Amino acid sequence: MDDRPPASVMARAEAFAADLAPRAAEFDRAERLPRDVVEQMADAGFLGARVPVEWGGLGLSPLEYGELTEVIGKACASTRALLTVHTSLVAETLADRASRRIREKYLPDLASGRRIACFALSEAEAGSDAAAMSTRYLQKGDTFVLDGHKKWISFAGIADVFLVFAADNGVVSAFLVDREMPGVEIRPMSGMLGNRATHMAEVVLSAVEVPAENLVCGIGSGFAFVANSALSRGRYSIAWAGVALAQAALEEMCTYAARREQFGSRIGSFQLVQKMIADAVTEVSAARELCRKAGRMRAERSPEAIAATNIAKYFSSTVACRVTSDAVQVLGGNGCWNGYPAERLFREAKILEIIEGTSQVQQTMISDFGLTTFARKG
Ligand SMILES: Cc1cc2nc3c(=O)[nH]c(=O)nc-3n(C[C@H](O)[C@H](O)[C@H](O)COP(=O)(O)OP(=O)(O)OC[C@H]3O[C@@H](n4cnc5c(N)ncnc54)[C@H](O)[C@@H]3O)c2cc1C
Repeated sequence: MDDRPPASVMARAEAFAADLAPRAAEFDRAERLPRDVVEQMADAGFLGARVPVEWGGLGLSPLEYGELTEVIGKACASTRALLTVHTSLVAETLADRASRRIREKYLPDLASGRRIACFALSEAEAGSDAAAMSTRYLQKGDTFVLDGHKKWISFAGIADVFLVFAADNGVVSAFLVDREMPGVEIRPMSGMLGNRATHMAEVVLSAVEVPAENLVCGIGSGFAFVANSALSRGRYSIAWAGVALAQAALEEMCTYAARREQFGSRIGSFQLVQKMIADAVTEVSAARELCRKAGRMRAERSPEAIAATNIAKYFSSTVACRVTSDAVQVLGGNGCWNGYPAERLFREAKILEIIEGTSQVQQTMISDFGLTTFARKG
């Protein structure tokens, strides 16, 4: 797997996505991702996409990873979510931030997909203000004892490893918790608007004893050093997920408008429909360019990469909502029916404005960037 050129990775991704796309509606209805899909992702190396080759990953650059995310995200949003959560939020973060001991213990299994990881930050009462978490840890000799209740944890239903954030008197630390550790309870959730096949669950931790070696970075580095870094990686992936959904919706609306006739003409010949198509073409193209810019800046480790990522995520998720909504509009009644993909794309797009920091949170951060960068001095 080490010397595989990116061209072959993309060829595998295209082939995988072609098989995946016709199954996405079934996964959405069943609210589960079949094991064979996870295994195919693992076999193709996608679950280690951004993990360095020395740890068994593909070592893709941010741009290559973005393109992989778009290809898979266009086929199935829940499958793309596995890439975002397992690869961006956890594996890539551990590769960059964790101790050598943790990397040796976990990364080869995560990169190969032998074990699946999830990211447990949010709680019922701590979402945008995640630092206000009530999950607690207490150091007892060589172990940390965790108690708390996490909510909205994508893939917790099937994950083997949980990157859990907990606080001790406001000092937030990050821990790797194994599913089989005594005191870990998984409560599956269903009835979501989108990302329905992501095996979402609540994670209840009752006096879970975590060995000190599973502390990720030092005590107190959980928020600034681990969570923020992970969330920026996640936002980058979500930005590309927005391009993926918007591109899929654009293709749906164009295909339909080119065939559907009303008043004796193709609806694509009506100027009001053409406006929706023109806006979609323009916005998808602009969103993709913002993602590429963020990708290049991330590869260069530019100090402005974080802001570029926030801008791409904010714009792309907004575009995904607008374009998928217009796709429903162009398809009319068929857009409101699950016999066509438009209604699912519309539901999936809304999720992107909520996860990895809501649009309002992105706006706040982008505004802070604007005020420090563009306000004239003196
Ligand atoms: C499909 C899905 C998957 C998810 N997966 C995961 C996961 O794997 N792991 C995980 O840890 N979490 C996950 N989450 C949780 C997600 O991260 C939170 O839902 C998100 O951070 C928002 O938090 P909240 O739902 O508590 O909303 P709140 O924070 O309560 O926000 C409610 C509203 O208030 C606004 N708001 C809040 N604060 C401000 C502010 N300062 N200024 C302006 N407006 C503000 C928000 O923008 C929003 O419109 C998932 C959520 C969903 C829907």
